[in-house]
Amino acid sequence: MNAMPNDGADLLTRYGEAFMATYGPPQRVFVKGKGSYVWDVDGKRYLDLLGGIAVNALGHAHPAWVKAVQDQAATLAHVSNFFTTPEQVALAERLLEISGAPEGSKVFLCSTGTEAIEAALKMARRAGKTEFVALEGSFHGRTMGALAVTHKPAAREPYGPLPLETNFVPVNDEAALAAAFTPDTAALVLEPIQGESGVRPLTDAFLAEARRLCDQHGALLIVDEVQTGIARTGVWFAHQSHGFRPDIMALAKGLAGGFPIGAVIAYGPEVAGVFSKGDHGTTFGGNPLACAAALATLDAIEQEGILENVKAVGEHIREVASAIPGVSGVRGEGLMLGLALEKEIAVEAVPAALEAGFIVNAPRPDTIRLIPALNLTAEEADTFLDWLKGYLAKEGT
Ligand SMILES: *Cc1c(COP(=O)(O)O)cnc(C)c1O
Repeated sequence: MNAMPNDGADLLTRYGEAFMATYGPPQRVFVKGKGSYVWDVDGKRYLDLLGGIAVNALGHAHPAWVKAVQDQAATLAHVSNFFTTPEQVALAERLLEISGAPEGSKVFLCSTGTEAIEAALKMARRAGKTEFVALEGSFHGRTMGALAVTHKPAAREPYGPLPLETNFVPVNDEAALAAAFTPDTAALVLEPIQGESGVRPLTDAFLAEARRLCDQHGALLIVDEVQTGIARTGVWFAHQSHGFRPDIMALAKGLAGGFPIGAVIAYGPEVAGVFSKGDHGTTFGGNPLACAAALATLDAIEQEGILENVKAVGEHIREVASAIPGVSGVRGEGLMLGLALEKEIAVEAVPAALEAGFIVNAPRPDTIRLIPALNLTAEEADTFLDWLKGYLAKEGT
């Protein structure tokens, strides 16, 4: 084994030989992180504005998170769901509290976003009806059920026939939404701000109509807050600042600050009672290590003023970015932002930014997405915005 060198080029070759092609060739080999910075194998530092795709809520190696995970690993890492642990109970209670879910609401824990969606879809089917409504541009995960409500043709088409019948509706088109419901509609699934299709917010009018139509047709409103949840938009859950209540909410990504976890909250006793013993389950769901990581993340968000930071730094980025020539607008809320470019050069800007020491991504050819750690500072953000200004002065206007 010790014959294996660990330089970057060699690791990338070995990666290509060992791994399936799903993600394409990795752009860098990273070896450590601290706060909003990561370092590659050659010792070069990068400002991480992608946050592991909205996962590293507290940045890298946050001391309280590290201590909680270390202590829990040394105490009790996993038991089966024949049993429970103090960490598991505490996390479910905490999620019910911060979600403001009504009396009788309940939680299911799993390990990823797609699994949380899968559980939500199964709950909707278990309630009796069979059809689904979802939105054009949606992304809900890669397992077969989640894929059936994911719109992106490249992701779904190779895998048909998919297991759910889904009507897709253009975002923010209330008339089309109303027309998509049938007596067989089990649920409408939506992201309050679509992430993977380029940071596309839904309007309050559309969200209100979604709630009304679900009530009218006896369908469940499943809100996918896998990306928008856990303080990402400056409130605990994005739907809370848009005045409507879901029937089911799916969470994952930032919830445990880098530890794999997913969660489903069923609002009210009727939805919460859909699953009976044996109806659903998963081996890793809610193990004490994952729950300790999540509790440490939620504690830090509360104790370190992170909700306020998300609002303030998000607003700062919006103001500064909007004034950069070549930026046509800024979409999103809090620290889930899409910088819209006048020219379709976002895909080329990403490797240029990486070369300059900034990690961002381009969900669309005209959009750079920022979903950094929630404790990013304005000064850190400014270093990227300065670079972007220079880049766009050369390439983008
Ligand atoms: C990432 C994401 C998912 C899927 O989560 P995984 O953990 O990758 O399975 C689902 N919905 C949304 C909105 C996401 O951003």
